[in-house]
Order: sequence, then C-alpha cells, then structure tokens
Amino acid sequence: MEKTAKILGILGGGQLGRMSALAAARLGIKCVIFTDGEDHPASEVSWKTIVAHYDDQKALGQFAELVDVVTYEFENIPVETIRYLQSKTSVFPDDKILEIAQDRITEKSFLNTIDIPTTRWKEIKTVSDIEGCFSEWNCEELIIKTTRFGYDGKGQSKINKTDNINKIFTSFDGQNLIAEEIVNFTHEISVIVARDKDGKMETYGPAHNVHENHILATSSCPAPISSPLKVRATVLTERLAKKVSLQGVLALEMFVTKDGGIIANEIAPRTHNSGHWTIDACTVSQFENHVRTVCGLPVGMPIQHSNVKMINLIGNDIDNVGDYLKNYKACVHLYGKSETREGRKMGHITILN
Ligand code: AMP
Repeated sequence: MEKTAKILGILGGGQLGRMSALAAARLGIKCVIFTDGEDHPASEVSWKTIVAHYDDQKALGQFAELVDVVTYEFENIPVETIRYLQSKTSVFPDDKILEIAQDRITEKSFLNTIDIPTTRWKEIKTVSDIEGCFSEWNCEELIIKTTRFGYDGKGQSKINKTDNINKIFTSFDGQNLIAEEIVNFTHEISVIVARDKDGKMETYGPAHNVHENHILATSSCPAPISSPLKVRATVLTERLAKKVSLQGVLALEMFVTKDGGIIANEIAPRTHNSGHWTIDACTVSQFENHVRTVCGLPVGMPIQHSNVKMINLIGNDIDNVGDYLKNYKACVHLYGKSETREGRKMGHITILN
C-alpha cells in the first residue's frame, strides 16, 4: 500500500477545521492546527496547535516539519503562505485554486473560460464604469462587491440607478471592485465535490440554501428543483474540480434562475457550511472525504440515507439548543466558541427525516 499521511496540518482554527479534525481522528489521523486567532475551536479536538501569523516563516517551517500534508479551512490565507509551505511539504487543495477563489474577478474570469456561466460582471475602477453597467445592462439596480475578502454579505452593496453613485463608490475607500448584474433567482444551491489523487470524484447535493441577513440560515437536501437542474449543477461542479486538478474538497455556490438556468456565484476551495448535513445524513461526510482526499486515501462514496435540513445556530440562536436536545430527529453540533456574538456561527442542527 502507498504511504498515506498520518499527521494532517490545518491552516485555520474554526469550526470547519474542528469538524475535519473530528473526521480525521476516526481515521486514525492526528491534526495540527495553525491559526492566528484567539479563539480556535479546532484546537480542542486536535493533537497540537501553533498560534502565529500566517506570514511567520519560522512558525510555518515548524508546522511543516510536524505534519505529512497541509490543508486549509478558510480561503483568506495568503497565497504566499501556501506557496511557502508547498516548498516544504504537500498542500491540498493547491495554490492555484486558492488564488482563483480569492478574487471575484479571477474567479468569474476562470469560470467563464471553462464554460461555467456567471451573471454579467465588470471590473469597476471609476464611477463612470458603474454608470456604464447601468446603461449596458439596461437595469435599474446592480450589486457592487469588493473583489477580495468578502464573506457573509460583507463588502457588498446593492445600488439603484437613482442613488448617489459617487458617494457609494467613495465609501469603498479605493478597494478593488466588481459590479454584478442582479440575478433573478428562484433558489440558491450548492454542490460539494471531493476528488482524490487518482481523479475519482464524489459529490454532495445540490443542497438548497436559504440566507438571512446574508448569512446561511438553512441548507436542505434534496433541493426542491428538477432532476435535470440537479444534474446540470453537479456536472458544472465536477467540471470545475477536474479543470483545476483538485485534490481535496470544494463547493460551488450557484443560482437557479427564474428562466430555468444555472449560474455560478462563488467557489469555496474547502469544506462548506452548506455541507454540514453530510455528517449526519451520509455514510461518508464532506469532512471525512476532505481528510481522505488530502491525505492520499480514496474518496468514499457518500450514500445519503435521510432527507435533511441543516439549521445554523447564529449568535443567540444557541439559546434554543435545549429544544433541539429534546427532539429525537435533531443532531446537535456545538462549536465550543467561548463568546457568543451577533452573526457568529455557534453551532448547527441537522434535522433528519
Ligand atoms: P456572495 O458574497 O457573492 O456569496 O453573496 C452573498 C449573497 O448575496 C448571495 O448568497 C445571494 O443571496 C446574494 N447575491 C450575491 N450576488 C448576487 C447577484 N449577482 N444577484 C442576486 N443576488 C446576489
């Protein structure tokens, strides 16, 4: 048998790292967490933790010495950090997909070159670029987003033709911007794909995702969309994974449009909140397949044995956990975060049916 990794390094110490580390433990794989954060729930279930900045080469060197392979649990890791680690050990998914996913312009350009449709978009450098979009797209409203570091609706703003465009443009304070045409969608969905070193793929979903205040509130699977749309969403996600020679897991967030098309919104080159339900509703979860594929093990076939709805516990939602603990259909997952804050993901519930 080929040598497979026995010690996995995870950049980032949040709940995605925690759930990957729990899956790793079941496979006899130890995890080392590298984080620059103060509260790192992944550490509580891992073998070791290094707390340092992501550009601290000495600490990164020590991290690389300790582990057989490195992965990451969020995409705002500097790509230089990944390249530095790649000079010392293996890192999956690699720097190329991370670089694509970190910038909305690179991401949309790449998706379009591999025939994955997106909404119409344009790079914005001036106020007149925004005005140009209104006339070119013949629309009343559009969305402006920062090209980097946006999440949970942060760094984006819907603007109307009649708004003070100059004021809105200035409020972005010189950050790189993209304008997007507003998608008239019926559903937001996501597919997660795991691809192993031999190129074998397994997928999860599509899940139907509902956002509240720009934060994922629920994910349900199966999604209430037609079979051809499900197939199309899966085909597009598999195409993406193949084109970037993925080893690991990625999620593709998509819109189902009113006229029955599918267009991509965002790539996450990691495990995804919209796949938390896979822990309780599938024989092999996204986290297990993440660990398997980055460690050189074969991807597992994830048979979904139950219909499912995942409910995120955001901020004070965690106060309702007592009700879920009494519900025999509810699987309770708490992330052990020390402080409850508005908008913070504190845990999730999976309801099986
Ligand atoms: P994002 O940060 O791109 O994932 O956007 C966060 C949320 O904003 C998405 O889940 C959608 O609900 C909404 N959104 C983003 N872009 C668009 C768009 N071009 N048209 C309509 N809704 C959008």
